[in-house]
Amino acid sequence: MTMKRFFIKHSEIIKNSPVITGQEAHHIAKVFRLKHKDHILLIDGSGMEYEAEITASSKDTVTVSIIKKYSPATESSLQITVGQGYLKDKKMDMLIRHLTEIGIAKWLPVTSEYSVPQPDGKRITLKSKRWEMIAKEAVKQCRRTRVPEILPPVLFHQAVEKTSGSDLKIIFYENETVSLAKTMLPLNQVPSNVFILLGPEGGFSNKEIALAKSNGFIIVSLGPRILRAETASIAACTLIQHLFGDMC
Ligand code: SAH
Repeated sequence: MTMKRFFIKHSEIIKNSPVITGQEAHHIAKVFRLKHKDHILLIDGSGMEYEAEITASSKDTVTVSIIKKYSPATESSLQITVGQGYLKDKKMDMLIRHLTEIGIAKWLPVTSEYSVPQPDGKRITLKSKRWEMIAKEAVKQCRRTRVPEILPPVLFHQAVEKTSGSDLKIIFYENETVSLAKTMLPLNQVPSNVFILLGPEGGFSNKEIALAKSNGFIIVSLGPRILRAETASIAACTLIQHLFGDMC
């Protein structure tokens, strides 16, 4: 049977007898009923994975001893940041799960002209916590070792201006006809850091496309069919990961 994967704090993994607490301990002991001498895999978000043996467990703590340390090659060398036009809650939840599997590095919710209103203050904090939880579940399931970073939401103009450090910036636009493969990429080498922008259900406005262009974005089509926002984001990330990352 494949070993189950759980999160542990990085500050614990370096101790002699690392202790797992909270929800993860509950999952180990109560949900999966794992006990003394059972082996599990641990991830601490550093890129490493650890095989550990359970040495003791109580109601809400599990103590382990580390047996082996691996560095699995499940993280893409390509850093993809997705600026996602704000969609309805369920679609955002679904996207963060699927895009984590596809291997994105960062998730940036963007309020644009035609997007559904973004939740405010307290609700956005709750939303971000929820996205992080979903991303963590997806990380365990797809055997990644790093959790995508969930960035605080921004307005469209902030998103296009906030892209220093990206060596390729792409906006996927439903009214564009030129595909990524046919675009003259301003590149001599494979990018290591790509920033992509995808629109909400209502698409992008002309003004937004012009602003993106003036900030160095290339404008790209995903083919002749208009895709639903969530389909477009999944297709775009797959395409980028295929062209420049590790889905090739
Ligand atoms: N309401 C718009 C469609 C928006 S689709 C209309 O009917 O025209 C939502 C987002 O998905 C778009 O803003 C774009 O980012 C992306 N998208 C969907 N289909 C696309 C295509 N064929 N090419 C490029 N981007 C596309």
